Amino acid sequence: MSVRTAVEAHNIIGWKTVPADCAEYVSDYLTGERYGRDSDVVINEAIAYAESLKLSGHGKEIWVFDVDETALSTLPYQAKHGYGTKPYDHASFVQYVAGGSAPALQGTLRLYRRLLQLGIKPVFLTDRTEDQRAVTTHNLLSQGYYSWEKLLLQPVGLQTTTQAFKTGERQKLVSAGYVIVGNIGDQWSDILGSPEGYRTFKYPNPIYYVA
Ligand SMILES: [Mg+2]
Repeated sequence: MSVRTAVEAHNIIGWKTVPADCAEYVSDYLTGERYGRDSDVVINEAIAYAESLKLSGHGKEIWVFDVDETALSTLPYQAKHGYGTKPYDHASFVQYVAGGSAPALQGTLRLYRRLLQLGIKPVFLTDRTEDQRAVTTHNLLSQGYYSWEKLLLQPVGLQTTTQAFKTGERQKLVSAGYVIVGNIGDQWSDILGSPEGYRTFKYPNPIYYVA
Protein backbone atom coordinates (compact mmCIF):
# COMPACT_ATOMS: atom_id res chain seq x y z
CA MET A 1 0.00 0.00 0.00
CA SER A 2 2.69 2.50 1.01
CA VAL A 3 4.66 1.62 -2.11
CA ARG A 4 1.69 2.34 -4.37
CA THR A 5 1.00 5.66 -2.66
CA ALA A 6 4.65 6.66 -2.93
CA VAL A 7 4.62 5.75 -6.63
CA GLU A 8 1.46 7.78 -7.28
CA ALA A 9 2.91 10.77 -5.45
CA HIS A 10 6.15 10.49 -7.46
CA ASN A 11 8.14 9.96 -4.26
CA ILE A 12 9.48 6.72 -5.72
CA ILE A 13 10.70 7.16 -9.30
CA GLY A 14 12.81 5.07 -11.64
CA TRP A 15 11.54 1.81 -10.18
CA LYS A 16 12.02 -1.32 -12.29
CA THR A 17 9.44 -3.71 -10.88
CA VAL A 18 6.78 -3.93 -8.23
CA PRO A 19 8.41 -5.47 -5.10
CA ALA A 20 7.63 -9.19 -5.03
CA ASP A 21 5.99 -8.98 -1.61
CA CYS A 22 3.53 -6.40 -2.98
CA ALA A 23 2.31 -8.64 -5.82
CA GLU A 24 -0.82 -9.78 -4.04
CA TYR A 25 -1.71 -6.28 -2.90
CA VAL A 26 -1.28 -4.88 -6.41
CA SER A 27 -3.30 -7.63 -8.07
CA ASP A 28 -6.07 -7.21 -5.46
CA TYR A 29 -6.00 -3.47 -6.02
CA LEU A 30 -6.23 -3.71 -9.81
CA THR A 31 -8.83 -6.45 -9.98
CA GLY A 32 -10.95 -5.19 -7.08
CA GLU A 33 -12.99 -2.01 -6.70
CA ARG A 34 -10.23 0.30 -5.52
CA TYR A 35 -8.61 0.90 -8.91
CA GLY A 36 -11.92 1.93 -10.40
CA ARG A 37 -12.78 4.11 -7.43
CA ASP A 38 -9.40 5.86 -7.45
CA SER A 39 -9.76 6.34 -11.20
CA ASP A 40 -13.24 7.80 -10.78
CA VAL A 41 -11.91 10.42 -8.38
CA VAL A 42 -9.56 11.59 -11.14
CA ILE A 43 -12.18 11.39 -13.88
CA ASN A 44 -14.85 13.20 -11.87
CA GLU A 45 -12.43 16.06 -11.23
CA ALA A 46 -11.49 16.17 -14.90
CA ILE A 47 -15.13 16.26 -16.02
CA ALA A 48 -16.04 18.97 -13.49
CA TYR A 49 -13.10 21.02 -14.71
CA ALA A 50 -13.99 20.51 -18.39
CA GLU A 51 -17.60 21.51 -17.74
CA SER A 52 -16.40 24.72 -16.08
CA LEU A 53 -14.42 25.86 -19.13
CA LYS A 54 -15.60 28.73 -21.27
CA LEU A 55 -14.79 27.55 -24.76
CA SER A 56 -13.79 29.99 -27.46
CA GLY A 57 -15.82 28.35 -30.20
CA HIS A 58 -12.88 28.30 -32.60
CA GLY A 59 -12.65 24.50 -32.37
CA LYS A 60 -9.00 24.46 -31.39
CA GLU A 61 -9.44 23.27 -27.83
CA ILE A 62 -8.04 19.79 -27.36
CA TRP A 63 -7.55 17.27 -24.57
CA VAL A 64 -4.50 15.01 -24.65
CA PHE A 65 -4.98 11.36 -23.72
CA ASP A 66 -2.28 8.79 -23.17
CA VAL A 67 -3.22 5.33 -24.50
CA ASP A 68 -1.89 2.41 -22.43
CA GLU A 69 -3.27 2.34 -18.87
CA THR A 70 -5.19 5.54 -19.57
CA ALA A 71 -7.50 5.00 -22.58
CA LEU A 72 -6.86 1.28 -22.90
CA SER A 73 -5.96 -1.27 -20.25
CA THR A 74 -3.17 -3.82 -20.34
CA LEU A 75 -4.62 -5.62 -17.34
CA PRO A 76 -5.18 -8.88 -19.25
CA TYR A 77 -1.47 -8.81 -20.11
CA GLN A 78 -0.38 -7.87 -16.59
CA ALA A 79 -2.44 -10.70 -15.12
CA LYS A 80 -0.36 -13.16 -17.10
CA HIS A 81 2.96 -11.48 -16.27
CA GLY A 82 2.98 -11.11 -12.50
CA TYR A 83 1.31 -7.69 -12.15
CA GLY A 84 4.51 -5.76 -12.67
CA THR A 85 6.72 -7.91 -10.43
CA LYS A 86 8.71 -9.16 -13.41
CA PRO A 87 11.06 -6.97 -15.47
CA TYR A 88 9.45 -5.41 -18.55
CA ASP A 89 9.52 -7.78 -21.51
CA HIS A 90 9.17 -5.75 -24.69
CA ALA A 91 8.51 -8.67 -27.05
CA SER A 92 5.56 -10.06 -25.12
CA PHE A 93 4.13 -6.60 -24.54
CA VAL A 94 4.29 -5.80 -28.27
CA GLN A 95 2.51 -9.07 -28.90
CA TYR A 96 -0.28 -8.02 -26.53
CA VAL A 97 -0.64 -4.66 -28.28
CA ALA A 98 -0.70 -6.38 -31.67
CA GLY A 99 -3.69 -8.43 -30.55
CA GLY A 100 -5.74 -5.22 -30.59
CA SER A 101 -8.02 -6.41 -27.81
CA ALA A 102 -7.05 -4.12 -24.94
CA PRO A 103 -10.23 -3.14 -23.08
CA ALA A 104 -11.17 0.50 -22.50
CA LEU A 105 -10.76 1.96 -19.06
CA GLN A 106 -14.36 2.90 -18.42
CA GLY A 107 -13.64 6.09 -16.49
CA THR A 108 -11.53 7.47 -19.29
CA LEU A 109 -14.20 6.55 -21.81
CA ARG A 110 -16.72 8.52 -19.72
CA LEU A 111 -14.44 11.58 -19.76
CA TYR A 112 -13.83 11.14 -23.49
CA ARG A 113 -17.56 11.10 -24.29
CA ARG A 114 -18.24 14.16 -22.13
CA LEU A 115 -15.43 16.12 -23.79
CA LEU A 116 -16.85 15.40 -27.23
CA GLN A 117 -20.27 16.59 -26.06
CA LEU A 118 -18.65 19.78 -24.79
CA GLY A 119 -16.80 20.36 -28.08
CA ILE A 120 -13.32 19.57 -26.82
CA LYS A 121 -11.41 17.42 -29.29
CA PRO A 122 -9.43 14.39 -28.14
CA VAL A 123 -5.81 13.91 -29.17
CA PHE A 124 -4.16 10.58 -28.38
CA LEU A 125 -0.45 10.88 -27.65
CA THR A 126 1.31 7.59 -27.01
CA ASP A 127 4.73 6.00 -26.82
CA ARG A 128 3.37 3.23 -28.98
CA THR A 129 5.21 3.41 -32.31
CA GLU A 130 4.09 4.25 -35.86
CA ASP A 131 4.13 0.59 -36.87
CA GLN A 132 1.37 0.07 -34.29
CA ARG A 133 -0.90 2.75 -35.81
CA ALA A 134 -3.32 0.39 -37.55
CA VAL A 135 -3.82 -1.91 -34.58
CA THR A 136 -4.08 1.02 -32.18
CA THR A 137 -6.70 2.69 -34.37
CA HIS A 138 -8.66 -0.53 -34.58
CA ASN A 139 -8.41 -1.12 -30.83
CA LEU A 140 -9.52 2.41 -29.93
CA LEU A 141 -12.47 2.28 -32.34
CA SER A 142 -13.57 -1.15 -31.15
CA GLN A 143 -13.59 0.06 -27.53
CA GLY A 144 -15.79 3.10 -28.13
CA TYR A 145 -13.27 5.83 -28.89
CA TYR A 146 -14.90 6.70 -32.17
CA SER A 147 -13.43 10.07 -33.09
CA TRP A 148 -10.26 12.08 -32.52
CA GLU A 149 -8.39 15.06 -33.86
CA LYS A 150 -5.03 13.29 -33.94
CA LEU A 151 -3.41 10.01 -33.00
CA LEU A 152 0.27 10.77 -32.38
CA LEU A 153 2.68 7.85 -32.15
CA GLN A 154 6.45 7.70 -31.74
CA PRO A 155 8.58 7.24 -34.84
CA VAL A 156 10.15 3.78 -34.89
CA GLY A 157 13.66 3.87 -33.47
CA LEU A 158 13.34 7.28 -31.80
CA GLN A 159 16.14 7.64 -29.25
CA THR A 160 14.61 9.82 -26.58
CA THR A 161 12.62 9.54 -23.39
CA THR A 162 8.85 9.35 -23.49
CA GLN A 163 8.69 12.62 -21.60
CA ALA A 164 10.87 14.41 -24.16
CA PHE A 165 8.89 12.96 -27.07
CA LYS A 166 5.54 13.89 -25.59
CA THR A 167 6.63 17.38 -24.57
CA GLY A 168 7.88 17.98 -28.12
CA GLU A 169 4.60 16.79 -29.63
CA ARG A 170 2.57 19.02 -27.31
CA GLN A 171 4.76 21.96 -28.29
CA LYS A 172 3.99 21.22 -31.97
CA LEU A 173 0.28 21.19 -31.18
CA VAL A 174 0.49 24.55 -29.45
CA SER A 175 2.57 25.96 -32.30
CA ALA A 176 -0.14 24.77 -34.70
CA GLY A 177 -2.70 26.85 -32.83
CA TYR A 178 -4.24 24.21 -30.60
CA VAL A 179 -5.11 24.99 -27.01
CA ILE A 180 -4.40 22.07 -24.69
CA VAL A 181 -7.08 22.52 -22.06
CA GLY A 182 -6.42 19.16 -20.41
CA ASN A 183 -3.96 16.31 -20.38
CA ILE A 184 -4.45 12.90 -18.76
CA GLY A 185 -2.03 10.03 -18.39
CA ASP A 186 -1.02 7.29 -15.99
CA GLN A 187 2.67 8.24 -16.03
CA TRP A 188 4.34 11.39 -14.77
CA SER A 189 6.16 11.44 -18.11
CA ASP A 190 2.75 11.97 -19.75
CA ILE A 191 1.99 15.13 -17.83
CA LEU A 192 5.31 16.79 -16.93
CA GLY A 193 7.13 19.12 -19.32
CA SER A 194 5.95 22.46 -20.70
CA PRO A 195 3.53 22.88 -22.41
CA GLU A 196 1.77 20.26 -20.31
CA GLY A 197 -1.69 21.71 -20.78
CA TYR A 198 -3.83 24.04 -18.67
CA ARG A 199 -4.57 21.19 -16.28
CA THR A 200 -3.15 17.72 -15.95
CA PHE A 201 -4.66 14.60 -14.44
CA LYS A 202 -2.69 11.62 -13.17
CA TYR A 203 -4.42 8.30 -13.59
CA PRO A 204 -3.38 5.59 -11.13
CA ASN A 205 -0.84 2.98 -12.25
CA PRO A 206 1.00 0.92 -9.63
CA ILE A 207 2.42 -1.66 -12.07
CA TYR A 208 5.07 0.06 -14.18
CA TYR A 209 7.08 3.21 -14.59
CA VAL A 210 8.00 5.02 -17.84
CA ALA A 211 10.51 7.87 -17.72
MG1 LIG B 1 0.29 5.02 -20.24
